[in-house]
Amino acid sequence: MRPKCPTCGAGFRGGAECGRCGTDLRGLSAILLAAREERESARLALRAGDGEEACRRARRSLELHDDPAGHRLHVLALLSAGRLREAVALLAVVCRPAE
Ligand SMILES: [Zn+2]
Repeated sequence: MRPKCPTCGAGFRGGAECGRCGTDLRGLSAILLAAREERESARLALRAGDGEEACRRARRSLELHDDPAGHRLHVLALLSAGRLREAVALLAVVCRPAE
């Protein structure tokens, strides 16, 4: 899901406030940064061969920001951890066409 201003729905483009309505978006920025850091930690865990840690980090990133790239990373992490059944189930959800 693409982040939006909670007040007016304008697409989030970074920054401390909404360019359209002036709402303070520092909280949203902090959440998105934390999600990005969790995804990076998941990638590092994958490279280190620690699939379970990659799963934890990828899942945490999705709790913070639900986006397609995060789901793909979570699938990779599940595969790395040998959790094939969960990876296939998640792929079925991620690859479902938008309604
Ligand atoms: Zn706004």
